[in-house]
Amino acid sequence: MQKGTINVQTENIFPIIKKFLYSDHEIFLRELISNAVDATQKLKTISTAGDFAGEVGDTHIEVFLDKKKKTLTVKDRGIGMTTEEVEKFINQIAFSSAEEFIEKYKSQSEANPIIGHFGLGFYSSFMVADKVEIITKTYKKGPGTKAVKWECDGSPNYTMSESDKKDRGTEITLFISEESNEFLEEQRILTLLKKYCKFLPVEIIFGTEKTYEPTGEKDKDGHDKTKEVEKPRIINNPNPLWNQKPVDLKDEDYKNFYRELYPMNFEEPLFNIHLNVDYPFTLTGILYFPKVKKTFEVQRDKIQLYCNQVFVTDSVEGIVPDFLTLLHGVIDSPDIPLNVSRSYLQSDPNVKKISAHITKKVADKLEELFKNSRADFEAKWDDIKIFIEYGMVSEEKFNERAEKFCLLKNDEGKFFTLDEYKEHVKALQTDKDKNVVYLYSTNSEEQHSFISAAKERGYDVLLMDTVLDSHFINLMERKLEKTRFTRVDADTIDKLIPKDDELPSKLNDDQKNLLKPVIESQINKEKFIVQFESLSESEQPMIITQPEFMRRMRDMSAMGGNNYFGAMPEQYNLVVNCNHPLVSKILEEKDETKQGILAKQLTDIALLSQNLLKGEELTNFIKRSVSLID
Ligand code: ADP
Repeated sequence: MQKGTINVQTENIFPIIKKFLYSDHEIFLRELISNAVDATQKLKTISTAGDFAGEVGDTHIEVFLDKKKKTLTVKDRGIGMTTEEVEKFINQIAFSSAEEFIEKYKSQSEANPIIGHFGLGFYSSFMVADKVEIITKTYKKGPGTKAVKWECDGSPNYTMSESDKKDRGTEITLFISEESNEFLEEQRILTLLKKYCKFLPVEIIFGTEKTYEPTGEKDKDGHDKTKEVEKPRIINNPNPLWNQKPVDLKDEDYKNFYRELYPMNFEEPLFNIHLNVDYPFTLTGILYFPKVKKTFEVQRDKIQLYCNQVFVTDSVEGIVPDFLTLLHGVIDSPDIPLNVSRSYLQSDPNVKKISAHITKKVADKLEELFKNSRADFEAKWDDIKIFIEYGMVSEEKFNERAEKFCLLKNDEGKFFTLDEYKEHVKALQTDKDKNVVYLYSTNSEEQHSFISAAKERGYDVLLMDTVLDSHFINLMERKLEKTRFTRVDADTIDKLIPKDDELPSKLNDDQKNLLKPVIESQINKEKFIVQFESLSESEQPMIITQPEFMRRMRDMSAMGGNNYFGAMPEQYNLVVNCNHPLVSKILEEKDETKQGILAKQLTDIALLSQNLLKGEELTNFIKRSVSLID
């Protein structure tokens, strides 16, 4: 028996380990199993190189619980360690790296957590255990290769002695502490294994599971008889799809893998991108385009980040551009630094390259889909639109690429590229200042009367009805030359796309001045600004419009929760059509009551067509309308 003191500068490192990253105690299991996987992979490498004469045999890793003894054991059949190696790797190197790690990160606050909490390694087991035991036997043959047992109770003192372990490999047993007894629950361990080890390259076995197997006999109806069998429960799929060659894979394989990743999601993904880079960094992965609805739904199925098949995290903010976090799937890269904080990550040159590469691949894929099958691309548009718009608004590089395949959809469901659309509308929709005016609607039901007025003129109306469209419109106005977006109800039809020819007005200024107070007395003057315009007789007598600029300001302050402008008041124009006979009729009416009723009726109709007549006002309008018919 050999006793020793771990070479510690700070005597109290164990209490720090115990407290360290309190919410993430569970990572100890990932660290232990990663070590076991490494040891197994090393053995395979050595064997392939011909430096190991023995039998590699079964190499699975086993995890078991003993509730009575309160222990959790991880057992591998990897390279094992000699006594000298335990001295070196566990007592010296492992410990000093744990110490260094803690020195560096103990001041990190919860608010700025380290990405993968990698680095603590073997010693993270002391976060949950009072005592840890290692029994290990090296693969090497010859003198000094006897199995060794190492024990440490969390103080800087350890003991080492010979062990009678016969087979090669390492067995690490944690005597779980009272406050961590959750890790003695089978269900808890199973969940953890499924989370961190689902795709590790070495088979991991935990307990058993019952399955049904055919017995080879038939029952009286001719069906196969089955019997219940208990089998070792294998946690992982050691050869996940992202490591396989895309040429060998079918669409169905990708869909099945999606279900494997997100068993609770019953929606099929739209399409996928298989990432495979060796230079200048290593990265593999599969990204799926999910069906994203008009609103951003809660993103349950996030991109999972792996490091050599070890699960690290499912929050990839900072690693991929924000708009790509809407995607699902996996990214596996040993080149993403994991023992750094998120804020540091953004400035890491490797991560920047990775992020740019993924963005490029996504753009490539979209362009390919667009070019290869436009019809299919259009059919998927409603689901990918929000994603593409988000990318264009937030990433300049993506925007440059997306200009080729970004589509505009009009209210009839027809699609146009940006170039096509300009061609489509420029003849009729160029105003007197040579700007091409793109008309849009945010709600084809509510803005129906304005849309049909525009279409009667031969104008085209785009549908811009998602949360991002207002940002997208701003972007387009910056990018497209001499182009302006205007919502269909921003002005009366003549002014919407102002041309040179204006109709003469039937009312002179004196008449307008007489009429104005009559109309104003029927409405809320703060909210509705009365304006006179000479429209054609066939237009409505009064029309309510919402000037583009004011509406955008209001939308923006509402969306950003920005109170800089206060709660911006709603304001509309009440446009009076000077050329409509009913407007002249108000002016000619000598009976003041009748004049008031007529003006009220016309303003109410205007309100109604903008969906602004509500409650008592609406009731009164209906009553008045009925009695007018009488
Ligand atoms: P890291 O894995 O980052 O090197 P650890 O503290 O987890 O740090 O482990 C230190 C060293 O101990 C490993 O590098 C390895 O040499 C050795 N080791 C740990 N676990 C095992 C194991 N299951 N089998 C063989 N060697 C191991």
